[in-house]
Amino acid sequence: PTPVICIDGPTASGKGTIAGLVAERLGFALLDSGALYRITGLAASRAGIALTEDNAPAIADLIRRSHIGFTPDQRVLLDGEDISLAIRTEDASMNASRVAAFPAVREALLQVQRDFRRLPGLVGDGRDMGTVIFPDAPLKVYLTATAECRAERRYKQLISKGLSANMADLLADLQARDARDMNRAAAPLKPAEDALHLDNSEGTIEQAVQQILTWWEQ
Ligand code: C5P
Repeated sequence: PTPVICIDGPTASGKGTIAGLVAERLGFALLDSGALYRITGLAASRAGIALTEDNAPAIADLIRRSHIGFTPDQRVLLDGEDISLAIRTEDASMNASRVAAFPAVREALLQVQRDFRRLPGLVGDGRDMGTVIFPDAPLKVYLTATAECRAERRYKQLISKGLSANMADLLADLQARDARDMNRAAAPLKPAEDALHLDNSEGTIEQAVQQILTWWEQ
């Protein structure tokens, strides 16, 4: 089967950047699964559907009917519209984490995610890549960092994109999303049993990338 490297972990642990670099170095495709939940939250809000469990089937339906695309430079398209920036706001992050708790939504996105698997390989970035989507993956990495480190990274990321940000709000939002991701019934965030743990609080992005490439070569 086509190899998959799973990189799971809490929000703003550096997963996205690290997954992108690992994919680039290996010439693998990249699945930013969080973007799919972000797109779902945005599509539902725009359609005027409240993000409640009662509406989960309608949200799942909406996403089945929508056309989701990624350009080669990782811009995100929803029915042809570039929504790369719209899905990165703090509001969109919260909405993503809300819809991600609905089993019907996760079910609708299951095959979408598996379809990203292609030769010569795939790097999957998310929360349940190793536990649910690609349980047979030969390498599963669980990437963590302290909440303070992660809030600071998110802060810099938003500022560099010209978006506004506030450290205290970011830390609170991040902790709320962590709690929701870890405590939900549907695919809670947790390391796969066979995951290798990587703490990204201290080291550089490049060190984390090298560690994963070393694991991959072994
Ligand atoms: O990784 P990112 O922050 O873009 O993900 C947005 C939200 O989508 C997360 O807070 C999480 O709740 C959800 N998510 C998920 N499963 C994934 C990826 C993301 O539940 N595989």
